[in-house]
Amino acid sequence: MSKSYGNTISLRENPSVVEEKLRTMPTDPARVRLTDPGEPDKCPVWNLHQVYSDDDLKNWVVDGCTNAKIGCLDCKKPLIEAILEEQQPIRERANEYMNDPETVRGIIADGCEAARDVARETLEEVRDSMGLIYR
Ligand code: SF4
Repeated sequence: MSKSYGNTISLRENPSVVEEKLRTMPTDPARVRLTDPGEPDKCPVWNLHQVYSDDDLKNWVVDGCTNAKIGCLDCKKPLIEAILEEQQPIRERANEYMNDPETVRGIIADGCEAARDVARETLEEVRDSMGLIYR
């Protein structure tokens, strides 16, 4: 997977884009027609079901796919819902920060200060270890 190939989903991606990417995601090439049985193990959508779906749903996919009872879009539908639901709080949180740049600047300033403290301590340790005492 690579961003340049356009086959990744970013955490804050627009829901309609996420849905489109999943709807057009490749499936088992053997399933050309709805009546063609497939093999989930040969389908990248199945990998997502392993992550997002419970056992009942996975059993439904295996039965539906191998016996050509469901279409690939039917199979992808619960995944689309699960992924969009997972991303929803991330999107909301990100929007809060995007609408409040002052808070973001404060967080960055605090982080810089904390990083400076750590860098200072590390430098002192290095100087001590090397016998470079400038006092
Ligand atoms: S039904 Fe699901 S698992 Fe089977 S080929 Fe289609 S998308 Fe893949």
